[in-house]
Amino acid sequence: MSDRLLERIPFNRAFIAGKELFYISQAVLRGQLAGDGRFTELCSRWMEDRFGARRVMLTHSCTGALEMAAILCGIEPGDEVIMPSYTFVTTANAFVLRGARIRFVDIRPDTLNLDEERIEEAVNERTRVIVPVHYAGVGCEMSRIMEIARARGLRVVEDAAQGVNATYKDQYLGTIGDLGCYSFHETKNFISGEGGALVVNDPELIERAEVIREKGTNRAAFRKGAVDKYTWVDLGSSYLPGELVAAFLYAQLEESEVITHKRRSIWARYEEALRPLHEAGLLRIPECPAHCHHNAHMFYVLLPTAADRDRLIEQLAEAKVQGIFHYVPLHDAPYARKLGWDDVKLPNTEDLAARIVRLPCYFDLSEGDQDRVIREVREFVGAA
Ligand SMILES: *Cc1c(COP(=O)(O)O)cnc(C)c1O
Repeated sequence: MSDRLLERIPFNRAFIAGKELFYISQAVLRGQLAGDGRFTELCSRWMEDRFGARRVMLTHSCTGALEMAAILCGIEPGDEVIMPSYTFVTTANAFVLRGARIRFVDIRPDTLNLDEERIEEAVNERTRVIVPVHYAGVGCEMSRIMEIARARGLRVVEDAAQGVNATYKDQYLGTIGDLGCYSFHETKNFISGEGGALVVNDPELIERAEVIREKGTNRAAFRKGAVDKYTWVDLGSSYLPGELVAAFLYAQLEESEVITHKRRSIWARYEEALRPLHEAGLLRIPECPAHCHHNAHMFYVLLPTAADRDRLIEQLAEAKVQGIFHYVPLHDAPYARKLGWDDVKLPNTEDLAARIVRLPCYFDLSEGDQDRVIREVREFVGAA
């Protein structure tokens, strides 16, 4: 077949479960468009039941949930927060907005998650929070992280943006720390365009979380009839999504098992096809510890060198396949340099970030298209 006839295989394609417009039309017909209506309630209760979470509050994004978490942790200027440098910008910005200084800690070479054995050396008397980021939906070593946090009186905020519906030792990601943050951005497993949720696991934080989410007012208590008028009682902002977003999301949550099952089968096909290359030492495929159950959010390969990585991306592009790298480590980003936070050495982060390529992984990826991706990768490493 001529290359010109080959269709481009994108990195991601949004999956539509089917009932999104139906639920949106219900919300419209009901005339309930602002936040905290029926669909917001349905989504929250669904996640609470399914994930065994004490309280789930929908937000307009995972970024919004992280910002709420930073306020709930009582971050003040000069406080320190520990997190990986290999993460999305808003993991850091949510805390920087409150005046925190970020202590970037290196990642483990196997899972690319925060290296739990490097946390203690970054803790000092100003440390307030540890933020594990569950990369690719593979759980961080939460037992150890919780043990360190409890021993030192620190809060734990899980950035589970990529980890919705994945587990660590049979507990759902996001439900283990004091707070957890989910994303329903179009690029994640379950989507609403932009969207997110804050999981509140510490019951003592629930009431304040409701206030912060409702612009710093006690409107939630007012709606429940607990107070007779609502007013400005605390810091806060507008973190809740409108009902149309929640209606869309509910259609996705209802199909979460189908979505996860399909993604896992795509992931397993990549694994089966590329494991021989991994075993031959030609590249590395993702590793998931036996006590973690991932959600097939992402399939990546690690090439021997950064130059190999760049050439693979180029070769894929020539074959009309979109393979992409991932985070530019935050400690090495312009804003971190401006703040003088680039004086850390994070060898694993710098090395792995330069060698990763993420492969197309989405619900509608056909076996034929996936075979094309696999063929290109095999050819690249000389195994075709
Ligand atoms: C996607 C993502 C975010 C941001 O999520 P939004 O919903 O787009 O705000 C934060 N952290 C990580 C690790 C992510 O993957």
